[in-house]
Amino acid sequence: MLEECSRVYARIDLDAILYNLENIKKAVPEGVKVTAVIKADGYGHGAVPIAKIMEDIDYIWGYATATAEEAFELRDAGIKKPILVLGYTFPYAYSRMLDEGIRPAVFRVDMLDELCERVKKKRANGFTGKMPVHIAVDTGMSRIGVRPDDFGASFVEKAMSMDELEVEGIFTHFARADEADLTNAHEREKVFADFLERLCKESGKKIPICHCANSASIIDFGQASMDMVRAGIILYGLWPSDEVARDRVLLKPALSLHSHIVYIKDVPENTPVSYGGTFVTDRLTRIATIPVGYADGYPRSLSNKGYVLIHGAKAPILGRVCMDQFMVDITHIPEAKEGDEVTLIGRNGDEVLSMEELGDMSHRFNYELACDINKRVPRIYFNDGQRI
Ligand SMILES: *Cc1c(COP(=O)(O)O)cnc(C)c1O
Repeated sequence: MLEECSRVYARIDLDAILYNLENIKKAVPEGVKVTAVIKADGYGHGAVPIAKIMEDIDYIWGYATATAEEAFELRDAGIKKPILVLGYTFPYAYSRMLDEGIRPAVFRVDMLDELCERVKKKRANGFTGKMPVHIAVDTGMSRIGVRPDDFGASFVEKAMSMDELEVEGIFTHFARADEADLTNAHEREKVFADFLERLCKESGKKIPICHCANSASIIDFGQASMDMVRAGIILYGLWPSDEVARDRVLLKPALSLHSHIVYIKDVPENTPVSYGGTFVTDRLTRIATIPVGYADGYPRSLSNKGYVLIHGAKAPILGRVCMDQFMVDITHIPEAKEGDEVTLIGRNGDEVLSMEELGDMSHRFNYELACDINKRVPRIYFNDGQRI
């Protein structure tokens, strides 16, 4: 391991991502395309290296990001497949999106008009193409998207009638597909499917790519696959919730988080530890200092609650997690010494500390924790067991 990564690093196992992808592919019906949701820098795992390993996989349609900037970053890195921006895109980005084949999600009339204007301007300079767009439909999130009503239908009709636009896709997003009881998701899927049928009847055309399935639906609601599924959290080997069936899609977590002990000391009974002295030793205690803190995205809410793994054993966090350091109890791990490896997320010996468990202990959410591991933490990528 590189010495400059000794303080902390996230190991990203690209083989695990490919393994998850193959199992996703097996879970969806034949012919259904997959979009890899790599927003928020690939849920903190690194969007570019992940997109790079997917460029030649034929069942991957493309990538989804949350913002235009995330899409531009992929293009700057040479990523060629289509990219869909799932959120609202502000007009300043439209020209570059048009140049680079980046599809906006559309749901406001002024977006349609503005996109048309951009295409017209380009056409004046010899451009002959159209702007591909995906229409967002709100079937239950009340977030972005037109509602599947008369206005929604007229919006779709307007978009389809514009010569400058190509309505390549239409999609919705489930609010409750990750629950054990899927009544709501089934109902919402039907609302979306009925809307699509209405559009088809009214226009005489099927929009080529209809999509609604997220990770939870890929696992538990295969009938919702339509033309394409959007795989997010499960790509990274993490679970959408603890209510989905864990035996249907086999997953391996791709990220583990590592550090090293930088200091060990023995302190007597009655010694306070960390800010506020919220923990006081009740016996002679061997304490190890770990050089990671909430400024790395390691949750402060793990104070006096979390643990790390050292020599295959759990070492509980003592006192508050500081900005850049925290302390753990290693009294019961006598072989531990300065410089030894510490696992903050992942496997160490026979013990595994998962992102889900860390989420539970810190009263956070596994998605949130992954995204929060920030740029101060170097990512080290492995493919075929080799560092790349
Ligand atoms: C984030 C997102 C996804 C992926 O969700 P997962 O639960 O991570 O699979 C899919 N669709 C939309 C619209 C999203 O915003």
